[in-house]
Amino acid sequence: MKKLLAVLMALTLVFAFAACTKQPADTDDAQKTLIMGTNAAFPPYEFVADDGSFAGIDVEIAQAVAEKLGMKLEIKDMEFNSLISAVQGGSIDIALAGMTVTDERKESVNFSDTYAKGVQVVIVKADSAIATVDDLDGKTVGVQAGTTGDIYCTEDYGQDNVKQFNNGALAIQALLNDQVDCVVIDNEPAKAFVAANEGLKILDTSYADEDYAAAIAKENTELLDSFNKALAELKADGTIDKIVEKYINAD
Ligand code: GLN
Repeated sequence: MKKLLAVLMALTLVFAFAACTKQPADTDDAQKTLIMGTNAAFPPYEFVADDGSFAGIDVEIAQAVAEKLGMKLEIKDMEFNSLISAVQGGSIDIALAGMTVTDERKESVNFSDTYAKGVQVVIVKADSAIATVDDLDGKTVGVQAGTTGDIYCTEDYGQDNVKQFNNGALAIQALLNDQVDCVVIDNEPAKAFVAANEGLKILDTSYADEDYAAAIAKENTELLDSFNKALAELKADGTIDKIVEKYINAD
């Protein structure tokens, strides 16, 4: 009987030990999720691919960072204008959306180190009389609501001359339908929209130069630090360049 007890105890120990060593696998199952918010109508930074998955520079950068942090990436598609409040409210951990660093936004969120540059440009119909930014006075300008293009144009041309849309694709549709005279939007999406739609062109004169970064909640300094560290490594080993080159042809 004593022997049986000893065997049982030994077995219990073996199982207890097995349970302990199994732990890494358990934490693997409970892998932490990084929830990224974006507006997936902003190619080549974020868009919905033909197979229905999210693709683009921001998506791949977030994926590479998540991988480095041992996290699983989940993407929530929403209007650009909702991203900052979603970060603040915690329904997303991070926003990557070709988002320009501005002083005003910095009052609401923290920005990571920057990973790309943007330029606000003007798209018009190929036969438009608008030739430079100076010709925009009194015209109807289409913008994406809440973007820097929206903010600058509203300042320069007045609320009445600016029409807001929930994403770039809708603004371009309005231009094609003559509901607006031009669209002010970031240069790379502009190129993508002009390539995908006949009869549009981008004016040579640009509007503003900007830096893109990820937005993270003010209190989440841990994620800010780990994101920046991972980003620096991905810049140093050429991963970021490779991702950008995959989507933007050097010209
Ligand atoms: N770069 C612009 C901004 O931050 C537009 C970004 C976007 O539309 N996704 O306001």
